[in-house]
Amino acid sequence: MDWLWGINVSRALMDAVRKITGKRTILSAGRVQSPTLVEAVRRWREIKLAVPIPSFNITVTLRKDTMEFNAYPDGWAPNTRKEAIQITKQLRETPWLRVENITWKSNTIRPPPAFNLGDLQSEAARLYRFSPMKTQKLAEDLYLEALISYPRTNSQKLPPTINYASIIKSLASIPTYSKLVQQLEVETRGVLRPVQGRKDDPAHPAIHPTGVKPRNLDPDHAKIYDLIVRRFLAAFSKPAQIERVSVKLTDRHGRMYAAKGIRVVDDGWWKYYPYLRPKEVYIPKLTQHEKVKIVKVGYSTKWVSKKPQLSKTSLLKWMESQQIGTEATRARIIEILYKRGYLESRGGKTIVTDLGMYVSEVIEELFPDLAKVELTRRFEEYIDAIRTGKTTRKRVIDETIRELDALIRKYKERLDHVGNKLAIALGALEPQVKCAICGREAVAHRPFTMCKYHKEAYERLTNTIPIVVEKMNVSEGEALRLIASRRGEAGLWVIEVAKHLQLLSSEE
Ligand SMILES: [Zn+2]
Repeated sequence: MDWLWGINVSRALMDAVRKITGKRTILSAGRVQSPTLVEAVRRWREIKLAVPIPSFNITVTLRKDTMEFNAYPDGWAPNTRKEAIQITKQLRETPWLRVENITWKSNTIRPPPAFNLGDLQSEAARLYRFSPMKTQKLAEDLYLEALISYPRTNSQKLPPTINYASIIKSLASIPTYSKLVQQLEVETRGVLRPVQGRKDDPAHPAIHPTGVKPRNLDPDHAKIYDLIVRRFLAAFSKPAQIERVSVKLTDRHGRMYAAKGIRVVDDGWWKYYPYLRPKEVYIPKLTQHEKVKIVKVGYSTKWVSKKPQLSKTSLLKWMESQQIGTEATRARIIEILYKRGYLESRGGKTIVTDLGMYVSEVIEELFPDLAKVELTRRFEEYIDAIRTGKTTRKRVIDETIRELDALIRKYKERLDHVGNKLAIALGALEPQVKCAICGREAVAHRPFTMCKYHKEAYERLTNTIPIVVEKMNVSEGEALRLIASRRGEAGLWVIEVAKHLQLLSSEE
C-alpha cells in the first residue's frame, strides 16, 4: 500500500512537470513524508503571514534595604500605550507598593526518565542546536563504538535486566564522572531504582551508557555521550526541591502587582543533570502591609504574533505526536524533504521553498488522503483486519489500486493545470500576470496585483491596522510603518505588503 501510493503519486507529480517543461525533475510523495510536508507548509504560511499586535508591560523595580527586585502587573496589562504612560507617571508620583500577602510553596521535581531517541534529539537541539538527524548519527556512532545501548528506541524505561550496578561502577573509571558516581553511591546506598518513563518500546530499553570507556571523542560526540551518561545517572537520584515565593503588592490606586522568587533548596538530580536546573531569583524578606520603595519604573512595548515553530526538531515532534513514521525513519524522512528541495536551511533556519508549497498544494487538492495522517490509521486498520481474517491481502491491495486509479484519472484531467503550477514553482515557466511584489502568479488586482500569498497577507494586515492605530495612538500610515519595521515578529509577506502600500501612498 505504501509503495503503491508513493510510486504513483510521485510519478504523477514528475509527469506533470515533464509534460510542461520537457525536463526530468525528481519529486516524491508518500504516506509519512506528504503529511509532514503539508504541516511544514502550514507552519511556514503562518510564519510568513504573522501580523503582530502591540502589548504593554510595566516593570517596577523595588528596593528593600540593599536588595533590588522586580514586580509586574498581576492579572492585568495596560490596554494602550497612553494608559501605560499614565500608570508609570502615577507610580513615579507615589513611589511605593504595599505588600498585600506573601505565599511560599515548596515543589518537588522528580528526575526525568532516561532518554529515548526523541527526547535526546530535542535536548540536543535545545542545548546545542543539533538537528535530529545529526543527533541520531552521533548516537549511532557511539553505539557502534559500544559506548551506549541501541539509540533507535522509543523507550523511557531502564529494566532491571540491564546491570545498573556494573555500568555505574565502570563509569567511575571515567575521570569526568568519577566524583558524580561516588556521590550517587553514597546517595542511593547501593539501592538502584531508576525513574521509569511512560513510553515503551518492545525491542529496546531507554538509551544508556554501557560503561565502556570512551577514547578521544570529538566535541560533538562527547556532548551527546555526556547527555546520555548524565541523564542515566540522574534517573537513579532523588527529587530536587525548590521553594517559590510569590508576593502580591498594590499601588495607591489598588492595582495589583506580583514579585516572584525561586530558590533551589536541594539540588537532587540536578547535580547529575544540571541542564534543567531553573535560574534562581531572590526576593528579600518582606512583611505584610509593608510599603516597599519604588526605585525605577518603566513600560515596554512588545509586539506579539502567533508564529509557530518550524525546524527539524519541531517537525520531528509533530510526527511523534501524530504517530506517523518510527524512531528509526522520522529524521530520515525530514531529510528527504530537504533533498527534494521542498525544504531548505538558510541561516540556521528551516524555510519552505516555492516547490515545497506547490507540491503540498497539489497533493492536498488532488490526493487529499495522502496529505493527512488518517491514511496511516486506515493502513493500520487494514492490517488488523487482515490479521484477524476479516479481509484478505488481495482485497486490500485491489481496493487501493481502484482508489488510486480513480484519483490518477481525475489528476490526468488536471495535468496541464498542475504542470503549470509546478513549472512556475521550478522557474521553468513565467506566469501571465505577476504579483507586483514577488512575480508569482497574480490572483487579485486591487489595490495592486497580488499573488495568493500577498493577498492573504494584505487581508490580515488591513484587519489589524485599526487595532494598532488604537493601541499605539498613531495614524494609519504610522501603523503601517511600525508593522513594516517589526522584522522579528511580522511575517515577511506582511512586511512586504506594508512596504508596498507605503510606496503606493507616497506616489499618490
Ligand atoms: Zn506575491
